[in-house]
Amino acid sequence: GKRAFVAGVADDNGYGWAIARALAGAGASVCVGTWPPVLGIFQRLREKGRLDFSLEQGGEWDIEKVYPLDALYDTLDDVPTELADDKRYRGVEKFSIQEVADALEADHGSPCIDVLVHSLANGPEVSKPLVETSRAGYLAALSASAYSLVSMVQRMGPLMRPGGAVVSLSYLAGERVIPGYGGGMSSAKSALEGDTRTLAYEAGRRYGIRVNTISAGPLASRAAKAIGS
Ligand code: NAD
Repeated sequence: GKRAFVAGVADDNGYGWAIARALAGAGASVCVGTWPPVLGIFQRLREKGRLDFSLEQGGEWDIEKVYPLDALYDTLDDVPTELADDKRYRGVEKFSIQEVADALEADHGSPCIDVLVHSLANGPEVSKPLVETSRAGYLAALSASAYSLVSMVQRMGPLMRPGGAVVSLSYLAGERVIPGYGGGMSSAKSALEGDTRTLAYEAGRRYGIRVNTISAGPLASRAAKAIGS
């Protein structure tokens, strides 16, 4: 059977969940990557049966395994030491992109991934217009929302079966002016779209995989609600 890894799932409302559900419905085993600050909440929802695991065709699916993932960090060395004192990261380990790639390989061998989904974004200054955005806010948006895809293809591409596919989620604000999508998030989506073309060329040749992005319509996810406020 095929296996998917969906990065950016922490509840059952967002695009990541919908994609995971559709892939499970098509017969894939689905592993997810969850941001450490929301991992505890997500696991409690799952344990209490509060996540809607129904399949469109009837029946139920389940997650094969949840991996903690913070896509701001490429390797353990990149994780700032202050995070060890951060309550939201307490007891969570191996959440850098490389450590998740290593864990996937340890758990399932290599190659083990057919479909890699990047469904995550973060822009700490998203509610500020671009013209008011700080350098730090801009770079944080690019780091979490665009470079994270480059790093995932770099580090998980070697785990992918030839013929596999990578997909990420973009937004129209990367192509046209959408007031309110600030903090460098529009810049991050422009970068994501440009990088998708280059990564498709490079990873196509290196790993025999496709790389695409979908410019998704507005959805009232947790992340989108942070933009509106
Ligand atoms: P969502 O809240 O379901 O998903 C975003 C996820 O990113 C969350 O689970 C969050 O915990 C995670 N995340 C944030 N920072 C992270 C980090 N550093 N490392 C790992 N994970 C991190 O919301 P969504 O709207 O479904 O977002 C999924 C994707 O879809 C994003 O790329 C978003 O930009 C894109 N998108 C959303 C809309 C929309 O209207 N909701 C429209 C177009 C594109």
